[in-house]
Amino acid sequence: MTITLAQTTTLLATVVFMHGVSALVWATLAMVARIAPRASLTMAAANACAAVALTLMARRGAWPDAWTHWPADVLNLASFALLGAAVPGILTSRLPWRPAAAVVVALSLVMLALPDGGDMRWQTRIVSGAGAVLVLVAGVVAWRHLQGLHGRRTPAPLALPLFLIALLLALSCASSFVAPGHGHDPRSTEPINLALLWLALLMTLLQNATLAFLVMMRLIRRIERLLERDPLTDALNRGAFDQALAQAHAGWRRGRGYALVMIDMDRFKQLNDTLGHAAGDAALRWMVNEVRPCLREVDRFGRLGGEEFCVLLPDTDIAGAALVAERMRALVNATPLRWLEQDWPLSASLGIAEAEPGDASASAVLARADAAMYRAKHQGRNVVQA
Ligand code: GH3
Ligand code: MG
Ligand code: MG
Repeated sequence: MTITLAQTTTLLATVVFMHGVSALVWATLAMVARIAPRASLTMAAANACAAVALTLMARRGAWPDAWTHWPADVLNLASFALLGAAVPGILTSRLPWRPAAAVVVALSLVMLALPDGGDMRWQTRIVSGAGAVLVLVAGVVAWRHLQGLHGRRTPAPLALPLFLIALLLALSCASSFVAPGHGHDPRSTEPINLALLWLALLMTLLQNATLAFLVMMRLIRRIERLLERDPLTDALNRGAFDQALAQAHAGWRRGRGYALVMIDMDRFKQLNDTLGHAAGDAALRWMVNEVRPCLREVDRFGRLGGEEFCVLLPDTDIAGAALVAERMRALVNATPLRWLEQDWPLSASLGIAEAEPGDASASAVLARADAAMYRAKHQGRNVVQA
């Protein structure tokens, strides 16, 4: 098969076009739709860098070397560094731009010191080798993060394309040892160049599709969170808590016990009437933040309504629940609410109950915890009752 210049040029133009379109789409996501704006802008920049780098490489020979050699290598490298930074940016909202910039600056200086011209093997090795490492690290970050997500789906395989891209880059780096000097002319009609161009097209599609999927995952998780959380305190809302409770009760039938701690703020109406509703809201948020450290990862904290909360403690008996409840009571009582230069003492009454034989459903346990909480109120408040 003979490869014509028209073929490689068309393929090259397609890769540049794909990067250009992707850059526009990511920029639109960032600036118009405001979806993961910083990470989306980073992806737009990654695609723009790749498009310009490839265009410069395609003009080698026609344009001065000073434009088409070192700048193209730096832009290529920047493109992988930006991709590597965008992945954690999308997943965790923290964009590690400093290490990415440090890698690009350091290796750009190294490449500046290399002799220009010749077969430029070292430039190829540096760009694709560093690119492979950057994308590999991003893949590991994505894999770990996705695996750590709780939920019904295990989305970790979404990170696989990043490993594939890292592998392709590593192969490209290795091939510079086998076929020296291929990297510098993307219009070459050598079969290896055609293969590399197809790989470049594949990588363009893979990286953008993968990152788009990660953004989608983030949106889905945000929507799921909105559906199950109380917006004021970020505790589980009634529906989500009831669901967790029903699950715990199903587990109890299979021999796994659980306990409940019902929490009701004391004299909350008085606080609202004296300091205002905003102070009441602040007190609820404050209380939830204060008691959260008492809970384990598996415990569920729900707002049943108003100033009434409930904690579900899986694999816990009444004695364990009493310990947790007492710690919570003491914490709420220890620090007053600071509101407009004024201290307002807070306290809560707590009732605890555990699942027992004969409890047909979780609501029976909930009713016992509620009754215990009312006994705590009658005892004068700021106490725990079983
Ligand atoms: P007790 O010690 O007997 O529990 O007295 P209490 O005043 O806390 O009890 P009551 O149930 O009479 O009043 C609860 C108050 O909580 C009434 C309501 O205005 C207030 N409340 C309920 N939800 C919210 C909320 O989201 N924000 C604020 N600021 N107040 C709320
Ligand atoms: Mg109350
Ligand atoms: Mg109440």
